[in-house]
Amino acid sequence: MSEPTAAAAPHPGPDALTGPDAAAGPAAASLADRAAALDAADPLASVRDRFVLDDTVYLDGNSLGALPAGVLPRLADVVGREWGELRIRSWDESGWWTAPERIGDRIAPLVGAAPGQVVVGDSTSVNVFKAIVAAVRMAPPERDQILVDAATFPTDGYIAQSAARMTGRTVRAVPAHDVAASADGRTAVALVNHVDYRTGRLHDLPGVTAALHAAGALAVWDLCHSAGALPVGLDAAGVDLAVGCTYKYLNGGPGAPAYLFVRRDLQPRFDSPLPGWNSHADPFGMADRYEPADGAPRGRVGTPEILSLLALDAALDVWDGVAIGDVRTKSLALTDFFLECVAALLPPGLVEPITPAAHEERGSQVSLRCEGAREVMRELTARGVVGDHRRPDLLRFGFTPLYTRYADALRAALVLAAVLRPAPEGTA
Ligand SMILES: *Cc1c(COP(=O)(O)O)cnc(C)c1O
Repeated sequence: MSEPTAAAAPHPGPDALTGPDAAAGPAAASLADRAAALDAADPLASVRDRFVLDDTVYLDGNSLGALPAGVLPRLADVVGREWGELRIRSWDESGWWTAPERIGDRIAPLVGAAPGQVVVGDSTSVNVFKAIVAAVRMAPPERDQILVDAATFPTDGYIAQSAARMTGRTVRAVPAHDVAASADGRTAVALVNHVDYRTGRLHDLPGVTAALHAAGALAVWDLCHSAGALPVGLDAAGVDLAVGCTYKYLNGGPGAPAYLFVRRDLQPRFDSPLPGWNSHADPFGMADRYEPADGAPRGRVGTPEILSLLALDAALDVWDGVAIGDVRTKSLALTDFFLECVAALLPPGLVEPITPAAHEERGSQVSLRCEGAREVMRELTARGVVGDHRRPDLLRFGFTPLYTRYADALRAALVLAAVLRPAPEGTA
């Protein structure tokens, strides 16, 4: 999500390369040839047509994914026919009631999970709460600490604190790269971000999970900035619980519901702190006594957000025939190319990449430290290059491999260079 900024002014289209950016010279020309060749050879190039896009270079899909073309017609049908004509019958006849598990099973392969372990609903914040409290309830009482990634996205930390107060535990914040070494006999669970939202650093999910298990602790991963951008491999790593949002790299739309993964063999021990009627073994029995459903539906709470859930369902169609391995390959190539363009086109010292150069430590975004980041991003946006900024001094550029072209990466670097280029003598 961006902090509010002024509305973007009209901006030049792709022909801008022949405009002021032509001043970038021969380096830009050779990079433009490279971009064209990379785009021509890109096996995912045609997937861009599954989205509604324009001339804007959209590099904020790590905050709000672009609109998949199938969403609008699907929502028109859901609203007009399923709601408008079938009304209450749609809970059954249109499959509304089972949509949280059905759509969870569509997300499952994207995060490396076998069916029956993912349920969609509520926000990521709410699912962090369910996961942490349920994990603590699985741990013996002498395990009195919850480890959290010290640089976590704030909501995760706030909710871990509250979960700790409610369960009589304490929170210990440690840097994500120290989580593995910090787990001990007092650790009930660790909550770790797979990719740091600020720096774009990718953490070692299999290694940290194995270390937590060796210490007898449970691992809860937040996949908000990894799912849809790179392979996650939940089952292969034996992850216990995981959460993630669907409006970033999964393109589900603003406020689209999040998901909760509970490893199959832990599901019988998943004791939800929010045992709403939707997670009851017999929801329509309207019993006085709560009896949890088996399997992934145990993670449900109340009535599902049908409109946004079914928008997400349609959005997931863009993944048909797409291999997540190809997505990762392109993501790394795009971010490499962007970093190369930035290094070639900007005078040294104006920006400092803080996203790791090593592929095994990089998610799908590039964060650049830059003085006046807020104003710089406002200017980029006005010129048709949309990323976002994080206070105090970070520019974030998210690369969604399904619709971002190498030419977009080059244009973003060219426009950034034009924005940051010092004014010629005598004009200021
Ligand atoms: C985006 C994001 C969230 C968002 O949580 P909401 O409940 O959807 O607002 C949570 N955690 C992380 C790590 C995120 O990147």
